[in-house]
Amino acid sequence: MANDTRIWTDVEFDRDGKQISCLRLPFSSDRSAYGTIPIPIVCIRNGIGPTALLVAGNHGDEYEGQVALSKLARQLDPGELRGRIIILPALNYPAVDAGRRVSPLDQGNLNRMFPGDANGTPTEMIAHYVSEVLLPLADIVIDLHSGGTSLLYLPCCLIRVGKTAAETARLLELMYVFGAPIGSISDGSGGGGATTLSATAQALGIPALTTELGGGASLSRAGEKLARDGVLRVLKHMGILPDAIVEPAGPTRSMRVDGRQAFTYAPVRGIFEPAVAVGDEAEAGDLAGTIHPTSGPSEPARLVQFAQSGLVACQRAPALTEPGDCLFKLVVDVSSPKIVARNAGI
Ligand SMILES: [Zn+2]
Repeated sequence: MANDTRIWTDVEFDRDGKQISCLRLPFSSDRSAYGTIPIPIVCIRNGIGPTALLVAGNHGDEYEGQVALSKLARQLDPGELRGRIIILPALNYPAVDAGRRVSPLDQGNLNRMFPGDANGTPTEMIAHYVSEVLLPLADIVIDLHSGGTSLLYLPCCLIRVGKTAAETARLLELMYVFGAPIGSISDGSGGGGATTLSATAQALGIPALTTELGGGASLSRAGEKLARDGVLRVLKHMGILPDAIVEPAGPTRSMRVDGRQAFTYAPVRGIFEPAVAVGDEAEAGDLAGTIHPTSGPSEPARLVQFAQSGLVACQRAPALTEPGDCLFKLVVDVSSPKIVARNAGI
């Protein structure tokens, strides 16, 4: 069939035990006419039970999830499981290997290419394989992101509001079980819209958690710990790792992005000097930062203000800035009593 994936693997998803292998994505080049791109995959199964799909390296320059999932994949013993865990710690492997957000093969931003294309570019083929082969196996998806090269992020767990109240309640429950300090609840209108892994999972009725765990293309120890602990808490909660030893979740502050005014953009080119840090509370009209001309003091510096009040959830990491670069994103508390009550109760 025209829409069949061209990616293959020797992993047998219904076999008990631990299989450490790769997906093979055909990629024909000058250097390797019959070559394939190996994408690491680990499948651990022990009998009947739910399936968790754990992903990192969707963006290649986001490291906490890559390391946490690689450690988990090495450590887990099939005897600990009831069900199945499928781990892809470097999903867009060409981007991971290059230390980049996008793939060097096709400039593909994987988390803007779902549901993908079986006969498209390498990045589109990966998205299609996840959508058509892996998601139908899954009862939950956790997609571990961080800020990457260009952003510093407050550790948070993100969900998209469900189509029904019951679906939203289930997602909130899982978000609180994950236990990030901030829970960011999206109506799906921002960011990647319908082109993300989480949006595709939810369209298939599979609950999806996304995280942001640090940034600046560095590896935050706290972010890596949160990735590991949060994943273990969810696996334990779902009965896949019933005896997992992990700290209980701390409180999660439920927050959301309040429209386009939540984002502060650079008006001019220059060297960005932030006036606040991630985790600070900002008021509308407060100084967000100063952009200094690269030419020095012969030109005036440009002041940038916040358009609304909120908590600074992320900040641009590199100092050199172009017009239109996102400098900050703010989030505000969710006031829904139902959400607040759930937050306190789990
Ligand atoms: Zn990302």
